[in-house]
Amino acid sequence: MAAINLWFKDLIARKRDGDVIPEGDWHLFVTSLMGGELPDYQVAALLMAIYFRGMTVDETAALTLALAASGEQLILGDGPYVDKHSTGGVGDNVTLVAVPWAAACGVRVAKLSGRGLGHTGGTIDKLEAIPGIDLSLTAARLKALTDRVGWAVAEARAIAPADKTLYALRDATATVEAQPLIVASILSKKLAGGAPALVFDVKAGEGAFTRDGEQARVLAQSLINGAKAAGRRAVALITAMDQPLGYAVGNALEVSEAAATLRGDGPADLLEVSRAVAVEMLVLAGAAGREEAQRRLARALEAGEAFAKLDAMARAQGAPPEWWTRLPEAAKSTAACAESDGYVSVLDARAVGRAANALGAGRTTKEDVVDAAAGILLRKKMGDPVSAGDVLMTLYYNDDARLAEALSHARAAAEVGEKPPARPLILEVVR
Ligand code: URA
Repeated sequence: MAAINLWFKDLIARKRDGDVIPEGDWHLFVTSLMGGELPDYQVAALLMAIYFRGMTVDETAALTLALAASGEQLILGDGPYVDKHSTGGVGDNVTLVAVPWAAACGVRVAKLSGRGLGHTGGTIDKLEAIPGIDLSLTAARLKALTDRVGWAVAEARAIAPADKTLYALRDATATVEAQPLIVASILSKKLAGGAPALVFDVKAGEGAFTRDGEQARVLAQSLINGAKAAGRRAVALITAMDQPLGYAVGNALEVSEAAATLRGDGPADLLEVSRAVAVEMLVLAGAAGREEAQRRLARALEAGEAFAKLDAMARAQGAPPEWWTRLPEAAKSTAACAESDGYVSVLDARAVGRAANALGAGRTTKEDVVDAAAGILLRKKMGDPVSAGDVLMTLYYNDDARLAEALSHARAAAEVGEKPPARPLILEVVR
């Protein structure tokens, strides 16, 4: 075994036994990872040790900075720059609504995004459903497009590339939920992205990596503390993720829903969370006070400027005219129906996410290729009345072999019973 692998084996053992790993070792870990010196099985073992043993605040900060330094870093300069990031949800296309909407009101967003993780979707997988789009921008191109268009999106590849590698391994090793890894993954991208102001959308509920409010609060505070320690302004919204947001779950379906929402024809819950995120973006960027932000956002939506910003980003990054009419569509569909009368009392976002992934919308191994057309359209949401035989959701797919598993998750996701109590969507704001 090479010296570096012996050192790394010892590091895994130290983490396994609960030792605190010093800053220098986290940096050596990331440089060796980037140098291709660490086999996946060793990195996977470290991730699992972290999952069980956790990381201290200092360890998390050291890993964050090492990941952020693993590639190019953006220097944005002066201007109303702001960024937003979700901790991950199902049907969570808020970025595709809130960011162009806020950009239409004067802020600038150089957005570094990731792919689907576990049962949740990722903005890069969603946007790749748009024909011709190029999301592999260098730091310089990301900045140039942001300044010209108002916003641009790139995969964390040239920027925080080590996060991309770890991200894929976390996804394949059931270690996504480890909070310090979520913090380091998100913050490294945001710090390398250079924005002075950061809005976090921390999801709480069955479909989130933080299932209860207390875990979500701890994650929100860790993100804010890390951002502030790095000299950034930050705020976190804790938002509900018991059931999927909106009606669409799956890459092309969610892009289509986001476009419809920005054209005034979207689901109320998606619009509410997106508006709340966009307000915080305008306020934190210093572009407007809270009331003025609300007014400007209403005007931009009404006047079609928010949709125009979504279109402008897609066109600037390679999409053809009227790309939203050319999104891939699945060849086949089937319905999951209610078996009794009542109200939809549960619509478990995690199970819906698993069903969508089983159809091909997400990955099981890091080599899997996603099917942009696969996914689910919900026909009912929690609290809706249903009769036996009503369609609860439609599953879209291309590969018959995927259907049986997807249907079993889909059927397990929905329960019909008593009308559930209404729950707010914005659960808390952490500053
Ligand atoms: N989003 C990220 O970028 N990383 C995570 O770990 C979770 C959500």
